Amino acid sequence: MSSLPALINQLVRPEILALNAYHVPASAGMVKLDAMENPYLVPAALRAEIAAAVSEAAINRYPDPSAQGLRQKIRDLLQLSDDMDVLLGNGSDELIQLLAMAVNKPNATLLSVEPSFVMYKMIATFLGMRYVGVPLAADFSLDMSAMLASIEREQPALIFLAYPNNPTGNAFSTADIQQILCAAQGLVVVDEAYYAFAENSFVAHLTDYPNLLVMRTFSKLGMAGLRLGFLVGDKRWLAQLDKLRLPYNVGVLPQLVASKLLQHHDVLLTQAAQIKQDRSKLAQQLSAITGVQVFASSANFLLLRVAHAQEIFAGLKQRGVLIKNLHGGHAMLENCLRVTVGTPAENERFIVAFKESIQQG
Ligand SMILES: *Cc1c(COP(=O)(O)O)cnc(C)c1O
Repeated sequence: MSSLPALINQLVRPEILALNAYHVPASAGMVKLDAMENPYLVPAALRAEIAAAVSEAAINRYPDPSAQGLRQKIRDLLQLSDDMDVLLGNGSDELIQLLAMAVNKPNATLLSVEPSFVMYKMIATFLGMRYVGVPLAADFSLDMSAMLASIEREQPALIFLAYPNNPTGNAFSTADIQQILCAAQGLVVVDEAYYAFAENSFVAHLTDYPNLLVMRTFSKLGMAGLRLGFLVGDKRWLAQLDKLRLPYNVGVLPQLVASKLLQHHDVLLTQAAQIKQDRSKLAQQLSAITGVQVFASSANFLLLRVAHAQEIFAGLKQRGVLIKNLHGGHAMLENCLRVTVGTPAENERFIVAFKESIQQG
């Protein structure tokens, strides 16, 4: 009988052994500006209404497997035509996995850009799927000649484009994405996780391209704790993907609470508008600091380049402010930090701690 470590080494796929698990740092008691969460709860009256509904919820029963009510609410919000449908996931992370599983034939390729959302590559690895990351241009726009050459060469079955992009914050050019949609033989998923903070969307383009799906999440709009993402696109695409969805992937409580919250979508969008305003203010304050480069953002976070990211990140942490250190990840993110826009008070605490950390460094 082998020892337990030997057994693990023998049985687990080498690419899984080599992985580092997705790391979530401890944040208890800190100003938490590392994960693009909405810093606001909804008003107390609405929370009381939700609490009353939750107290009546049939949690002894399995949820509605097709989440009919919630999906209809999303349909209405997006004013989808009859040939379009909505597929719900346990966060959009689950939908990325489901998409990859659907097209992962032997030698199929998943393509994205770098730097971008790390789960695209991670999920390809989980599934043993080939992954190609095309570097962005120096200004974080799409490097179209590299993109078109890669698409031609690799013939990816699946392309993910985060729009706006995480962690760079910019939205790629609409014309560039349209050109990719035309060039690609595979499925192109436009990941609109930050739609509430952005100017444009591809939802209206769904009918123009047979290979386009749009993915969104409610995580950045005040429901990160519910774990709800969704795909929008042609019914015929979603019917295939729906076969791969595990039964009851969205529980009774997320269905119920999200339905209530979406009845008050305007409240959430007002919060998003506030966050956008505070994003501008924060960007101005940071730009005024010598040695700090602030990148333009269409999301609820800012990407910064500083002289010594590691030291400033540590200095902030020491002062009780948690942001994301991107230094050491991708070469294009050298000395970069990412800060989520918080409440005005949180942003102020961040600015004070940031300045102190620079002086100390
Ligand atoms: C946060 C994020 C997601 C994941 O969202 P969940 O719904 O919480 O899984 C997907 N895509 C991008 C680009 C993100 O930044």
